[in-house]
Amino acid sequence: MDKNAMFVIEERVKRTIDSLEKNNMSGYYVQTEEEALKKIEELISEGDTVSVGGSMTLFEIGVIELLRNGKYNFLDRYQVGLSPAEIKEVFRKSFFADAYFTGTNAITENGELYNVDGNGNRVAAMLYGPDKVIVVAGRNKIVKDIDQAILRVKEMAAPANNVRLNRDNPCTMTGYCMDCTQESRICNEYTVIKRQGNKNRIHVIIINKELGY
Ligand code: SF4
Repeated sequence: MDKNAMFVIEERVKRTIDSLEKNNMSGYYVQTEEEALKKIEELISEGDTVSVGGSMTLFEIGVIELLRNGKYNFLDRYQVGLSPAEIKEVFRKSFFADAYFTGTNAITENGELYNVDGNGNRVAAMLYGPDKVIVVAGRNKIVKDIDQAILRVKEMAAPANNVRLNRDNPCTMTGYCMDCTQESRICNEYTVIKRQGNKNRIHVIIINKELGY
């Protein structure tokens, strides 16, 4: 990327991390997937019970692979052959995890995390339960404020996820949210994490890459 454009992006990342810190969340800026994985290994310990929320970013940068390396007690929702009842059990057990990994739909420059879920398991665990929540996001997830975060989900994250999941919802035709009333709608729980009461619970790793939706 052009160095002038990179300057603008890096200033945006710095503002965002400062705001996260003011909101009692820890922010980290890394350049590569490898640096992100190293930071994750610093934040968790061998033997920890770990779990994940649905996220393309976690697959893209190798977090799922890392958690499957045998050093951790991984509650693996992606194990082949799990029944719906077993997946539900993983979701529920995740509330007791030492660390919960997730992406995010948007991070505002005011240091807020905005997310939309279909089941609510991911946002529920972000809000309460796991001792530590580690959010991993590409620089493309940073937006100015909550209005922009809402727009980002409607115009990018939600339609793209619908296409990925092969849902027969109107956004897969238009490329933007039509606020549908379909049974197969995946946008159900809308959450804003404005601040953490428990400092050091939420850690946000921002990678200098375009990742996920
Ligand atoms: S509310 Fe419906 S149309 Fe809008 S993004 Fe979600 S699934 Fe698509």
